[in-house]
Amino acid sequence: MNIVIYNEYRHERTEPACAEVYPNGIHAVLADFLKKGIDCNIKTFCIDDVNEKMTDEVLNDTDVILWWGHMAHNEVTDETAKRVADHVNKGMGAIFLHSGHHSKPFRLLMGTAPNLSWTHNGFKEIIWTIDTTHPVAQGIPPYFELPMEEVYGEPFDIPAPDALVFIGWYSSGHVFRSGCAFKRGRGKIFYFQPGHETYPTYKNETVQKVILNAVNWVNPAIEKGQVNSGIDVEPIIK
Ligand code: ZN
Repeated sequence: MNIVIYNEYRHERTEPACAEVYPNGIHAVLADFLKKGIDCNIKTFCIDDVNEKMTDEVLNDTDVILWWGHMAHNEVTDETAKRVADHVNKGMGAIFLHSGHHSKPFRLLMGTAPNLSWTHNGFKEIIWTIDTTHPVAQGIPPYFELPMEEVYGEPFDIPAPDALVFIGWYSSGHVFRSGCAFKRGRGKIFYFQPGHETYPTYKNETVQKVILNAVNWVNPAIEKGQVNSGIDVEPIIK
């Protein structure tokens, strides 16, 4: 499997609280457990090179992309965002993590803002497995706990997901659709809410298992290709 990780990689280089948790960047932790769990090649991009180097050629060879961004969403060009969204429509799998909900490619693919109710950092989160039959939920316990996460609250302005796999509850009282599965064109998308940059969420083994499951689920089961344009279709009944 050919995997691309986009991690903005700016918090880690500017904020000591983040550098302490992810000294080599969030992408390094993601790449490390992905390599252990899946036979794969991984390419990583950050805000410094994504617009220049994440080309059509790279995305043609990509089965699954993971996207973590936050403070520099607007520095990802519209062309780059469209390129990513186009490839998802053609079959590339995509996983948007945490604040990736506001990234340009995710906005394009959802067709909404998609805003949420932000309240506070630093509450306990319990993640409940709702759709136990979904491939992303396999091997995940009925619930698991993260001692500290950023509170993302409903309403979350996304189109209704094709499957709601996880719901997060916070000790602040808020709830959130924390694990959402979508299909767009020929591609599959998974959004997973946990992963604030100052908490060691991506070092949690259950979180890693969810992301590994998600990578396997969005991995295109069919050959990637052109989206059906809907033209030049001969009548099948004459
Ligand atoms: Zn955050």
